[in-house]
Amino acid sequence: GLPPRNDDLKALIRTVPDYPIAGIMFRDVSTLLLDGHAFRETIDRLASSLDPADIDLIAGIEARGFIVAAGLSYALGKGKLMLRKQGKLPGPAVGIDYALEYGSDRIEMHLGAVKPGQRIILVDDLLATGGTALAAVALLRGQGAIVEQALFVVDLPELGGGQRLRAEGVTPASLVT
Ligand code: AMP
Repeated sequence: GLPPRNDDLKALIRTVPDYPIAGIMFRDVSTLLLDGHAFRETIDRLASSLDPADIDLIAGIEARGFIVAAGLSYALGKGKLMLRKQGKLPGPAVGIDYALEYGSDRIEMHLGAVKPGQRIILVDDLLATGGTALAAVALLRGQGAIVEQALFVVDLPELGGGQRLRAEGVTPASLVT
């Protein structure tokens, strides 16, 4: 159940048909990010669903997830963990391969970035099939983290990502569908 007030944010997200491949409706948050008031609202609304006392770290998925995660991290005064695409991390890393709505990819994190038992909120710009988020959950849990909540600006519910996350014990929340 999304509050109707999020229609103001939805109106700022551009749809680019057939990007990056034919048949994909790309929901482009770059147009929302250009609006400073809307970005602040986005972060404030997502942050209001979280209790800082229950959180140790915010994990953002490269690249658009970093922007949202950094905002939340600042708003809540929590550290931020970067889940990076392949080959970007300077230190010893651990990674996982996953399937995308279009193509495949790999995310990695630094070994030792998470201490066992730390409670992590997973953040990305958009939830589609859930493949990316589930890979991130598996990666983080593999390092001993507790991951029970994931936040997105946009959810595409017809692609089933939310259901897949719930099936793995992760509660998703989003502002716009
Ligand atoms: P998925 O793994 O299928 O849930 O896809 C989510 C990831 O791919 C996120 O990092 C999104 O940024 C990106 N993505 C997938 N589908 C779209 C779409 N239709 N519009 C914009 N971004 C998308």
